[in-house]
Amino acid sequence: MATNPQFNFESELSEPVRKSFFIDGQWVNPSGVVKLDLISPVTEELMIQMPEASEEDVDEAVAAARRAFDQGPWPRLSPGERGVYLARIADELRKRLPLLARLWTAQVGAPIGLSTYLSPQSIDLFDYYAKLVTNYRFEEERSYPGGVARIVFEPAGVVGIITPWNAPIILLSYKIAAALAAGCTLVAKPSPETPFEAQIMAECIEAAGLPPGVVNIVHGGREIGDYLVNRPQLDKISFTGSTAAGKVIAEACSKRLARVNLELGGKSAAIILDDASIPSVLNSLVPFSMPFSGQVCFSLTRVLVSKKNRDSFLDAYVSAVEAFKIGDPFDAATQLGPLSIRRQLERVQRYVAAGKAEGAKLVTGGGLVPGFDRGYFFQPTVFCDVDNDMTIAREEIFGPVLSVIAYEDEEEAVNIANASSYGLSGAVYTADPEKGYDIARRIRTGNVSVNGLCVNVEIPFGGFKQSGIGREGGIEGLEAYLECKSVYMLG
Ligand code: NAD
Repeated sequence: MATNPQFNFESELSEPVRKSFFIDGQWVNPSGVVKLDLISPVTEELMIQMPEASEEDVDEAVAAARRAFDQGPWPRLSPGERGVYLARIADELRKRLPLLARLWTAQVGAPIGLSTYLSPQSIDLFDYYAKLVTNYRFEEERSYPGGVARIVFEPAGVVGIITPWNAPIILLSYKIAAALAAGCTLVAKPSPETPFEAQIMAECIEAAGLPPGVVNIVHGGREIGDYLVNRPQLDKISFTGSTAAGKVIAEACSKRLARVNLELGGKSAAIILDDASIPSVLNSLVPFSMPFSGQVCFSLTRVLVSKKNRDSFLDAYVSAVEAFKIGDPFDAATQLGPLSIRRQLERVQRYVAAGKAEGAKLVTGGGLVPGFDRGYFFQPTVFCDVDNDMTIAREEIFGPVLSVIAYEDEEEAVNIANASSYGLSGAVYTADPEKGYDIARRIRTGNVSVNGLCVNVEIPFGGFKQSGIGREGGIEGLEAYLECKSVYMLG
């Protein structure tokens, strides 16, 4: 196994974190022998292995979560009591913050500046739901003609949580913080490429003293995820990942009408109106069109600019991305690290070939970064003369590839933005914020920013169309884990 000079898995992670599963409040030995390989995106060498769960491990985790929900104290605590535990988890995460940021960088190559900047969102989520849960109205009395009913919001039950590799600790925290605040118990299965954030989360859960079985963690790939989704003891599945997998999961849930939340892919558009100042557009568009080498669901990957301003925008944007410092993700100056996994690199290469074959014009990039003899380093890539019907404009590439599409007038810009099977994010740039708001209202996506791009944990996030079902973050994120019950008080 190769030693990684910047992150030593053996010495920086405890033995249980490296080798055990957290089930029913204990660190238990995996029952199987299969291992997951973690490959460095920088050196392409094996960094460490993590045990993969067997079906038996999943069964134990599900049974523990079911017991903790049906018989344990967690769903019966007052919301304020649960809030105290959530705040303790936030404190435990805070102690491990530099480790979490470095893990993200080590496992999948997120530039350390980005992972350090974004990882605190995990703490924000637990702090936010700790506070929200104490103020939220879980019970209200409502009159109807001739009587009174009590409307109560109860935990949805036992939740199966499945997350991808691109923002592991944040995506886990969105789900775990809200589910716990609601009074649910859970089994989480993170991505096989990034198992260790969930293991550190388990350490935090243990240190915060949650009752056994409330949080259980198992590891594995698609097959184990599929096995988990199909456990009849689970009341709800909360999934973040690709639209393709989301459809399979939705179908499995529909068979037993399990509740399901889906946070899926995107192909988001940035509309640049003619009155926008190009330098201020670039300030947010340069970092948010290909953050983490474009491996972020809300990346603004289609830029819509008027025919009149297209060339001046292209010149400025291309010079900005050509100046990116590409290299070691542990170097604080690095702006673009490698793609995370070999299949990501192959996927991006396939899309670039499709763009060229379908007649888009490659303005810059399009290949491996010269000077790197190993690692999944791919150049920032810009296509123009893109028609919105081309594959590169329709499908999520999940790489550092931008499509510039020229529009005739604002009406056409809105139509192009909406001509997508996805509906996750978007942005409008203009000197007139109210005009930007009007256009934002016409864009069929779950999130739109005027003059920038923002995602805040207190504001709901999620998709229209094939970008998902439901919301995470904000009050809506808590409500995703609640069931509504009406109790008629007849005498
Ligand atoms: P993926 O769908 O291949 O895998 C995501 C997770 O689901 C992994 O843990 C995987 O093991 C598991 N999985 C895959 N197929 C499954 C199945 N049939 N049943 C159960 N589990 C299954 O996605 P990925 O490549 O890891 O992640 C990238 C995708 O995630 C992109 O499409 C991106 O847009 C999306 N994403 C969305 C959001 C959001 O909030 N909307 C956030 C981050 C990433």
